[in-house]
Amino acid sequence: MSGQLKGEKVYRGIAVSTGVCRGRVLVLHHTRHVIARRELAADQVNPETSRFEQSLVHTRQQITEVQRRVAETMSSAEADIFDAHLLMLEDPVLIEEVIKTIREQKVNAEFAFHTAAEKYVAVLEAVEDEYLRERAADLRDLANRILANLLDVKDQSDLRHLSEPCILVGRDLSPSTTAQLDKKFVLGFATDIGGRTSHTAILARSLDIPAVVGLKNLSEELETGDYALLDGYNGTVIVNPTDQTLFEYGQLAKIKASLEEKLVEVQHQPAITLDGRQIHLSANIEDQNDIEAVRTHGAEGVGLFRTEFLFINRDRLPTEEEQFQVYRQVAEALTPAPVIIRTLDLGGDKFASHLQIAQEMNPFLGWRAIRFCLAQPELFRAQLRAILRASATGNIKMMYPMISGLDELNQANTLVEKCKAELRAENIPFAENLEIGAMIEIPSAALIAETLAKRVKFFSIGSNDLIQYTLAADRTNEKVSHLYEPTHPAILRLIKMTVDAAHANGIWVGVCGEIAGEPVLAPLLIGLGVDELSAAPAVLDEVKYIIRRIRLNEAQALAQTALRLESPAEIYARCVEFARQTAPSLFENKAPIST
Ligand code: PEP
Ligand code: MG
Repeated sequence: MSGQLKGEKVYRGIAVSTGVCRGRVLVLHHTRHVIARRELAADQVNPETSRFEQSLVHTRQQITEVQRRVAETMSSAEADIFDAHLLMLEDPVLIEEVIKTIREQKVNAEFAFHTAAEKYVAVLEAVEDEYLRERAADLRDLANRILANLLDVKDQSDLRHLSEPCILVGRDLSPSTTAQLDKKFVLGFATDIGGRTSHTAILARSLDIPAVVGLKNLSEELETGDYALLDGYNGTVIVNPTDQTLFEYGQLAKIKASLEEKLVEVQHQPAITLDGRQIHLSANIEDQNDIEAVRTHGAEGVGLFRTEFLFINRDRLPTEEEQFQVYRQVAEALTPAPVIIRTLDLGGDKFASHLQIAQEMNPFLGWRAIRFCLAQPELFRAQLRAILRASATGNIKMMYPMISGLDELNQANTLVEKCKAELRAENIPFAENLEIGAMIEIPSAALIAETLAKRVKFFSIGSNDLIQYTLAADRTNEKVSHLYEPTHPAILRLIKMTVDAAHANGIWVGVCGEIAGEPVLAPLLIGLGVDELSAAPAVLDEVKYIIRRIRLNEAQALAQTALRLESPAEIYARCVEFARQTAPSLFENKAPIST
């Protein structure tokens, strides 16, 4: 435990995934092993060579074991990334160079290996090609693992080594690392940077792991082994909690358990207001592993299938057939409930290293989502065909992300028509009347909602992006998180404008950004006329709980008031007041400490 942290200390950040956990902290620093050069006596050379070979065997066993675990808990696509590590492990050039150095220079294996590996990493890191640079990271990972084995120490920066439950603390976790976390060993995580709607945070909610981000320099202040309590309701990390704090959190756990019982009761009840307005409550998912959670939380289908997670954490693109199998599996499992597949939304904070996309100055304003897909028609075509084929097996709908204007919609639809014609010619079945919607997540799309509404079957408001683009506040940057305000009057007006245009044209509107999963904001959205809310399965119970306690006319009155108010904070306060009055039990667990 770190010397300076004897007493309790509270760190405040941004709560991004609810729940409380406590345990030992694992700080993710990039491991830098200290490698000393040791001269060997002549009779030590052979044993040293064997020791090196043994470390390779040991490393191979570890990687295969991790790969097996990942394949069990995630999908085979995630497990595939370790194939690259296994291949590098067998690289004869590298192995021979190390053995030669041990024999000729009579030096220890760590030194010989480290020198050779560093040389290769440096070569890879120097190349322009993004894909090869990623391989440098792989090689460094692998080298760290081999060195840890040679030195007989645990490589703590490697999450795939986790064998005991811990709270992860780091500067940042990428969405691809987060997607690999094993819930058995990760109690929660806390990062220095990040915002509530960064994809890392979204994944935490989807994995149902408590998480706090934006904790500034927490990862520098804590040390592995510190004891901490992480409060994903209030956005705090409490190091060395006192008995009093632990007692308060014990009380909180009791309140939470009683709320849990109430929430379980509504799981399979309809999402209907006291005066009979039915709201369609759907789930956001990342892959087929989420099907169970969709069922458990009684979601009426999937309102947002973020397909890009099938594209990251792997070495190559998923084929049309692989995609088809996943989409089919989800559609069949949930039929007759609708499954809205969002076409690929890579870019922004979600990257697929194998696609070799050059780094951009403003990735969120750059080559992302539908822009990227329209520029890569072959890649898009494979996905469209896979979705179309899967549409014959269940109730699939499809929507395009990041539509900024009519041209993009028309271009995408033209490609869909081409794919349909191909499938017809190949006698492959698909739903001729597959419904296509547009995400409204760029202000320009909301402003021309009238135009778009005439050409799609539904809208789904991507509030995460709509807020960031309207307020020019990067959703992943904690320094501007105070500006990222869902209740900003501009956001409310854009939502209202979208709803009015949709309804005037006879189509429905959903919200699938994170605000849809916030019980405090759900009444406002319903009052604004939104027909569907889609959120991470784990947060749906609370949303349904409040929906079942409100009246539509009260929610409408709240929305009317909100549309008249000028201050985001005041609008938010009204929403909180409304929600607290309507469903007080939802809020009893939210403020255990006053420090
Ligand atoms: C959104 O922007 O609100 C959305 C749902 O899409 P994503 O979070 O994946 O960008
Ligand atoms: Mg979006």
